[in-house]
Amino acid sequence: MNKRWTIGKIKEFVENNSESKLLSREYQGFSQKLLFQCACGSNFEKTFTKFKNNNQRKCDLCQPPKAAR
Ligand SMILES: [Zn+2]
Repeated sequence: MNKRWTIGKIKEFVENNSESKLLSREYQGFSQKLLFQCACGSNFEKTFTKFKNNNQRKCDLCQPPKAAR
C-alpha cells in the first residue's frame, strides 16, 4: 500500500489523531523530519512514519521514548 501523503493530509491526520499540531509547511517524503507542536507547547521533530506508525505523537517530555525492552 503506497498511500501518497501531502502536507495537507498530514496536517489533517495530526489534528484528527493527536493533540499535537503540525508546524511544518512542506512534506518532501517519509524520511523528512516534520516539526510538530505538542499539546504542552513544546516543539518536537519526528518523521511522519514514526508519528503515525510508532504512535509517537507527543514530545519526549510527555511521552518519553521507551527504553529498549
Ligand atoms: Zn509535550
